[in-house]
Amino acid sequence: MNDESIEVTSASDAADSDVHVVGGGLGGLTAAALVARTGHTVTVHEGRSRFGGRATTDTKDGFRFNQGPHALYLGGEALGVLRRLGITPTGPEPRTKGARMARGHEVSIAPGGPLSLLGSRLLGWRDKFDLGATLAGIGRLDPTRLASQSTTEWVEDLSARPRVREIIHTVIRLATYTNAPDVLTAEVALRQVQLALGDGVIYLDNGWEQLVDALAADPRIRHAPADRISELPDAPAVIVATGTPESTTALTGTEFDTGPSAEVSVLDVGLSRPPRHDTVLGIDPPMYLSNHGTPSGMTPPGASSVSVAEYLVPGTEPDRGRLRSFLEHAGIEPESIRTERYLHRMTAVSAIATAEHGGLRGRPTVDIDQRAGVYAVGDWVGGRGHLLDAVLASAEDAARAAVDHLERRPVSG
Ligand SMILES: Cc1cc2nc3c(=O)[nH]c(=O)nc-3n(C[C@H](O)[C@H](O)[C@H](O)COP(=O)(O)OP(=O)(O)OC[C@H]3O[C@@H](n4cnc5c(N)ncnc54)[C@H](O)[C@@H]3O)c2cc1C
Repeated sequence: MNDESIEVTSASDAADSDVHVVGGGLGGLTAAALVARTGHTVTVHEGRSRFGGRATTDTKDGFRFNQGPHALYLGGEALGVLRRLGITPTGPEPRTKGARMARGHEVSIAPGGPLSLLGSRLLGWRDKFDLGATLAGIGRLDPTRLASQSTTEWVEDLSARPRVREIIHTVIRLATYTNAPDVLTAEVALRQVQLALGDGVIYLDNGWEQLVDALAADPRIRHAPADRISELPDAPAVIVATGTPESTTALTGTEFDTGPSAEVSVLDVGLSRPPRHDTVLGIDPPMYLSNHGTPSGMTPPGASSVSVAEYLVPGTEPDRGRLRSFLEHAGIEPESIRTERYLHRMTAVSAIATAEHGGLRGRPTVDIDQRAGVYAVGDWVGGRGHLLDAVLASAEDAARAAVDHLERRPVSG
């Protein structure tokens, strides 16, 4: 566990700031850093004793674990925002060579590239041909045209072959962290698959805390004492970055029309020896096992770790036993497990963009109350990106709107 508690700024400085940000996850910290560099003063209020929210990294028995498997998309909005702040994330690419897919007890080479497609036992020849042609064409499709189509409808249009469709759904779950294809807009599904197959992702050296530390270290950001606040601070401008639409409504009184959340359960295990496979994607059950820790320096010398996550179908109860049996099917021997950490139910996306709302454009905007200068940040806000990309894109939009609001104010005196 990173026990560094929040270093509090003097009470009068914190209270006098031009902008107050509620929530010290990556969204709130990014919005604060963007405001600070314009010269306006900014205070962050975080309810817990450490910054980071869902991007914190915990240490257990010498192993470092993110809040579930986390990868940064290299082609997405988040990286651009971080770079504009002078932050260059570092970390390795995933070890996808030899990746596997599992259907029931059968574990075989994942049919990703041309070679693995040939070698995979999960598909017959016709399916292989169809999947190869489908994947080859996916980069040229325009996601915005699919905004009002559900992921299920789009995948049905892509291929008439059930085995091919289930592989595509497996890749979509991996890239979107959601298991609700009937409601998820195909715009997000396609865009995330394009990002994954295009520039790809990196894991972060030492965990996602790398980003939290880089943002929280900005000396211009003022820190209020850890306190879960229940009323909006009285300030010239306020940015609410509390992580979900529900917590934003609790603070602002504004109701939002959004899609459902996407949830996962996670079992992280520290291992005394390397796993048999670095990546195993479950077609059925909908699981994902990955070796994030070893390549990014999050394990003690000579040890390894893997995370296994279940993409929960809305309405299903998480079950640690299902995660454990997937570990075993993926070849992790129980005697190699040195430590484990279970996260029963985690919100991977607080409100997914849906076909019914017309895709990304249908998400609430950052403006909650422009006259009062109140703005929202989160993975459910604004028309750009998914997961952290949406969080940092909305942080950028909210910071800009808050600064514009301050600069439009009549000069007093
Ligand atoms: C299992 C899992 C895997 C993920 N994998 C990926 C991935 O691979 N790639 C990717 O891009 N994204 C991934 N994500 C998503 C990413 O972690 C989140 O989008 C991002 O961290 C959310 O940041 P946030 O600041 O919006 O919200 P949060 O991190 O939830 O932060 C909100 C903060 O607000 C504080 N807060 C709430 N209410 C109050 C209050 N009233 N007063 C004061 N403070 C308050 C909370 O304590 C919290 O610290 C994953 C998420 C999960 C759960």
